[in-house]
Amino acid sequence: MAGSDYVNLPAAVHRMERALGNANYPGWPSNVVPVKYDRKSLSRAEIAVIKKVHRNMNKLIQCIRFVPFSSVPRAKSFLTIRKASEGNGKSATVFYPRGNAKEMEMVIKFYEVNDTSYNRMVLTHESLHTLGLGHTHMRSDRDQHIRLNDHNIKAEKKRQYQVCKSCNLHVLHDIPYDCGSIMHYRRCRYGVEPCDDPKFEPLDPNNCNVVDMNFEMSDSDIKSAQILNCNKEHWTHKNEKNRFTKKSSTKKRNRSLPQGASWITETKDTGKEEMTINIHFDD
Ligand SMILES: [Zn+2]
Repeated sequence: MAGSDYVNLPAAVHRMERALGNANYPGWPSNVVPVKYDRKSLSRAEIAVIKKVHRNMNKLIQCIRFVPFSSVPRAKSFLTIRKASEGNGKSATVFYPRGNAKEMEMVIKFYEVNDTSYNRMVLTHESLHTLGLGHTHMRSDRDQHIRLNDHNIKAEKKRQYQVCKSCNLHVLHDIPYDCGSIMHYRRCRYGVEPCDDPKFEPLDPNNCNVVDMNFEMSDSDIKSAQILNCNKEHWTHKNEKNRFTKKSSTKKRNRSLPQGASWITETKDTGKEEMTINIHFDD
């Protein structure tokens, strides 16, 4: 793909930072997510695991492509992935670009990025955030499906359970509430059962399993990623002055591997100048 297709993301991206699962979020230029791997913190084997996860996502979502930055060296917007082991080694965080920055960053907090189902799950979950997906359990209709145990949610974690008012994707596109979504937290942090402080319970356990881990993207996850990144108008570069014009998607484009991407959302206010997505009950 020609490097000239890549341009700075429009300012709209920054306005969308707090929009989880919002149907109007901007996508990645040309539906391609250029990925820089931090070779100072990641070994070749660890990078191979990340690439494996992204190849699987490319295959299943079809219209988005995570690619090594080296294959699109002129890309001006990109995702950097690095490892900074800390905490209990079970989570990862996405940082959004601020101001005119064009770099999104994913920080993996594993001690080692091994090829395990848990690690692949977290990497997939985080990568879906980079495509615009939010947390399922923050949807506006979640109280019809789960009941929060507020007393078990630490004050600093309550933001992870707030209803997302701007998440309109499921409303506009009629996406059923899916407890099997890889974007839906488990009732016990890290999914370790039993636990004495479940964060929420399903109203109908027969139709909402929030105990077993969701290691793979569900159909609703894939559909959401496709809607956010494929079946929408795309911002495309018009000229070298970074002016943008909207270009309608075409059936041909959608059939032939549209590419897409977006900047995700959902956030945790750290008091710093970044937005973070803390995943999986990071204590
Ligand atoms: Zn998350």
